[in-house]
Amino acid sequence: MPDLEHSGILIYAQLTRDEYIHTVFFELAEKAKELSKKLGNVDVNAVILTRPNIVFKYKEAFENRGINKVYYFENENFKNYNNEHYSKLIINLIKQIKPEIMLVGATNQGRDLAPRIASSLGTGLTADCTDLDINENGKLAATRPTFGGQLMATILCKTYPQMATVRPKVFKVTPDDMFVQTEFINCPVNFDITSDKYSILDFKKTIDSNIDELDSAEIIVAGGKGLKNKEGFALLKKFANKIGGTIAASRGAVEMGIAPSNIQVGQTGKTVAPKIYIACGISGAIQHTIGMTGSEHIIAINNDDSAPIFEIADTGIVGDVFEILNEYLKK
Ligand SMILES: Cc1cc2nc3c(=O)[nH]c(=O)nc-3n(C[C@H](O)[C@H](O)[C@H](O)COP(=O)(O)OP(=O)(O)OC[C@H]3O[C@@H](n4cnc5c(N)ncnc54)[C@H](O)[C@@H]3O)c2cc1C
Repeated sequence: MPDLEHSGILIYAQLTRDEYIHTVFFELAEKAKELSKKLGNVDVNAVILTRPNIVFKYKEAFENRGINKVYYFENENFKNYNNEHYSKLIINLIKQIKPEIMLVGATNQGRDLAPRIASSLGTGLTADCTDLDINENGKLAATRPTFGGQLMATILCKTYPQMATVRPKVFKVTPDDMFVQTEFINCPVNFDITSDKYSILDFKKTIDSNIDELDSAEIIVAGGKGLKNKEGFALLKKFANKIGGTIAASRGAVEMGIAPSNIQVGQTGKTVAPKIYIACGISGAIQHTIGMTGSEHIIAINNDDSAPIFEIADTGIVGDVFEILNEYLKK
């Protein structure tokens, strides 16, 4: 039976550096609505930390995703994420409103914030989930890969809130109309936010922009060990440029040193969901496919017709990747 003292689902609404709500919030909101129905239509609420007087610009976004209540904290310093302050405020909020479930996007920020909240509250956190459901006892059933991706484990949490993080692009957002009138609740920031152990002065981008492009790319051309060397990867890049695609890689290619680690797709890389994913010289190990099965159409090029990638591919091309890419480039 669900716990009577705890109720509702709370989602952390992360803001991007440009002060947009991170897309993972909308993905979580849609899944939360599904979970809510199974729990008897409990509230789906959000918590957000913003600079003063900007929260209402997100009103429509929250209402269209069916968010019942938004708990918001305002402070000029919330332009920059600070794990110490953010976790302290959210922990206090959770103690007051006692949600049954808390969901956080497994972004860099979410991966930093969620464990701090969970450990302070003495509750369990299932990280990097690939699915969420409600079991027959009304508990959150959080599924994630384990044993190096060989097994999918469904994990239940004995304590409250039952917490989970989910990577961006794991859940889809449909255009379904979920409109509700959202109630905005201003929560006081009741401690000195400037008495800091550290302060953030500036953010500098140190990685190339390809990693951001992967999130929004409609076409991804991914290379694996089958590309053999840097020249192989250069060919892949040329092909990707020609068709307006963004490049990605398997861990095999990254470990060979022919592709940078920030474009790795899979369990220990990024999760992507483009319209078209072209896997070139990638065998299709579960640790890779877990990061790209949300793609709408998967094309695989591999010279081994028994490669596991063909089991999930919508279109399979058996042949030498160099010959095939060069042939396309000529056309
Ligand atoms: C804990 C853990 C986490 C992991 N996380 C990830 C992850 O995030 N992402 C990831 O990708 N992997 C991950 N891996 C590694 C994963 O198990 C595989 O080893 C890896 O994905 C293999 O990369 P690959 O497909 O490029 O290489 P291989 O498995 O070696 O496949 C190369 C493929 O290229 C084909 N090929 C060779 N030559 C040609 C040619 N000329 N033309 C066409 N095809 C050719 C071959 O037939 C073969 O199928 C992880 C492993 C573990 C244990």
